[in-house]
Amino acid sequence: MHNEVYRICLRYRELSKNNDYAARNFQFINSKVRTLPMLADVVVPMRLEPVPVDALWGEVLQEENISIDDSYVECIKMPLLHAGDSTCEELDHFNRIYQCATRNAVTWEFKPKWLYQSTDYCRNCTHNAWKGRDIQYCFLDDPELVVETLFRNCDVPLEFLHDVVKYLRSTDSVTRRLFAAQELVKDDLATLMTLRDVTCFLTWSRAERSIGASIIDVDQKPEEKLRHWQDTEMALASFPEKKKAHHGL
Ligand SMILES: [Zn+2]
Repeated sequence: MHNEVYRICLRYRELSKNNDYAARNFQFINSKVRTLPMLADVVVPMRLEPVPVDALWGEVLQEENISIDDSYVECIKMPLLHAGDSTCEELDHFNRIYQCATRNAVTWEFKPKWLYQSTDYCRNCTHNAWKGRDIQYCFLDDPELVVETLFRNCDVPLEFLHDVVKYLRSTDSVTRRLFAAQELVKDDLATLMTLRDVTCFLTWSRAERSIGASIIDVDQKPEEKLRHWQDTEMALASFPEKKKAHHGL
């Protein structure tokens, strides 16, 4: 099955501005993210393709209140990362699971957020507590603990859980690669922000007992978001020490 996903930018009121952003974003992804050696083969393949505005696109853009001042829509095309016929279950704010009816293919979608910590406390756990989120695990914990906690009430194949723990414990796992990438770009705030907000997909096959890893959502962040993150960081830093989550970092 070769299902593809089309991504377009809807940030601006004019199509031409959205097209410019999509093209710049595509450049950013290729020059800043895909070039990181530890991520090169896990960042999902994408291509930029201008698609002529036909009646259907016209409707979509009109619904989004975007004025059509260009003859094409700049699309970023990428493969769909879970089986097309699977059902999706949302486990919490950061995790989803896709399973096809036979449960021979399971895909776990998650956002590990900040793996490399530039502070002496865990940003994810401290932020979750601040937001009042009941998250009982940390992606920096041992993978077995994360998987046990996260999938406690989720009906997934035991073989999947076993294979995913083994995979996450391997030195080549997507979370270890992401940790290393975040550490590598720690002085380049724009790229670091992107790497702290990516989405990982782990796709398990029962037949092959294999795990395939992909990373998406590697977009360049807008300036406004940068300021928002800096404000949040200051708020968290001013937390009393006992409210900050430390775990042997
Ligand atoms: Zn933590």
